[in-house]
Amino acid sequence: MHGEHVETLIIGGGQAGIAASAHLTRRGRPHLVIERARLAEHWRTRRWDSLVANGPAWHDRFPDQTFAVTGPDGFAPKEEVADYLERYAACFGGPVRTGVEITQVARGADGRFVAQTDAGETLTASNVIVATGAFHNPVIPPLIPAEAGMTQIHSADYRNPGQLPAGGVLVIGAGSSGVQIADELNRAGRRTWLAVGPHSRPPRRYRGRDFVWWLGVLGKWDQKPVETGGPHVTIAVSGAHGGHTVDFRALGHAGITLVGRATGFAEGRLTFADDLPATIAAGDADYLATLREADAYALRAGLDLPPEPEAHRIGPDPDCIADPATTLDLAAAGITSVVWATGYAFDFGWIDCAVFNPDGSPRHTCGISPVPGLYFLGLPGLSRRASAFIWGVWHDAAYLADHIAAPVAA
Ligand SMILES: Cc1cc2nc3c(=O)[nH]c(=O)nc-3n(C[C@H](O)[C@H](O)[C@H](O)COP(=O)(O)OP(=O)(O)OC[C@H]3O[C@@H](n4cnc5c(N)ncnc54)[C@H](O)[C@@H]3O)c2cc1C
Repeated sequence: MHGEHVETLIIGGGQAGIAASAHLTRRGRPHLVIERARLAEHWRTRRWDSLVANGPAWHDRFPDQTFAVTGPDGFAPKEEVADYLERYAACFGGPVRTGVEITQVARGADGRFVAQTDAGETLTASNVIVATGAFHNPVIPPLIPAEAGMTQIHSADYRNPGQLPAGGVLVIGAGSSGVQIADELNRAGRRTWLAVGPHSRPPRRYRGRDFVWWLGVLGKWDQKPVETGGPHVTIAVSGAHGGHTVDFRALGHAGITLVGRATGFAEGRLTFADDLPATIAAGDADYLATLREADAYALRAGLDLPPEPEAHRIGPDPDCIADPATTLDLAAAGITSVVWATGYAFDFGWIDCAVFNPDGSPRHTCGISPVPGLYFLGLPGLSRRASAFIWGVWHDAAYLADHIAAPVAA
């Protein structure tokens, strides 16, 4: 494709790239999706084996295609999500090239973008939509040195309990990934520890409705980044085992030893923040506040939903919360592996345009960068809270396609 020009180059063939292609196709605008592996690759190979979607199938999808196997209230396994996205892309037949990586993007003197591929080819484009996801480089804090002799992996590389050496496992980070991985390890009979930091843990279902429905009627999916700003608080939700509320007390009673945030390591001992009870209480307060907001909405709207008073009851503390450990001798405890569910950092180093903040995040307004023609899609909070999710990216992609088809002020 040496010297080839496209009006809009979409880099990345995940749900964001596919949504962008669908909307440009609908508007009759020429474009090309370049994907370095396969469509929806990250759903296939960058997730653990048992992962199911965190949202029910009626919600975590594009508006005009349902899942083939999973019913509306079910949680689609990751392979089905990938199949779904591939099938969606095949339906509208947008132009896609897979197995090609864009290694560099720069802006030429004529204002066009010049993209290099890993095959040494050059492509020019009037617009570029960067749809390479939000989960680039797995972050492992430099806390436990390699000499400690532990197997240490990031959640991006976790697949199943059998992959880890025999012995106990410490999972660090209790967002949706860490909680689900710890639960899976514990159910598989592994002695499991889970380091918990500040979190939000919305009810899975309340008064017969899934929390994604409640977030919708309460207007929370539409919250702008500025409204959700402040320190990052991870969200612990799960669609596993038919979907259930993440209840840290229940995990403790089921045998997982909860500890606070990991803060230091010396002579084989890991230290933890001593705020575990306060962290758990803050998560409970957030959970109960969501229930109260839902009740107030149901009353206002005159909804006849079955009351659920038992959902307001917080169970007793397991010992690990009542009397939390603040240090742990990993070897003495029999811990042989650490799974870091500690998030990801951006890597946009291959884009040679001055649109990045010191932390590597791109500057943009709802995906429109300050460089004319350069767009970002699929980032958390791109335009609102829903932006990183399948149906949220659909709406952001429509906005960008409108901007490309008939430019409007950002
Ligand atoms: C564990 C986990 C569970 C999640 N569960 C849900 C869920 O249940 N529901 C939901 O809506 N969201 C979920 N998400 C969030 C989000 O929907 C997914 O991360 C989703 O994969 C993001 O889609 P994307 O298209 O933005 O990026 P990705 O799926 O990451 O796609 C980016 C694509 O770009 C390609 N690429 C990258 N760089 C280049 C390059 N230089 N050249 C060419 N191609 C390139 C990659 O190969 C990849 O295929 C989850 C995320 C994680 C980490």
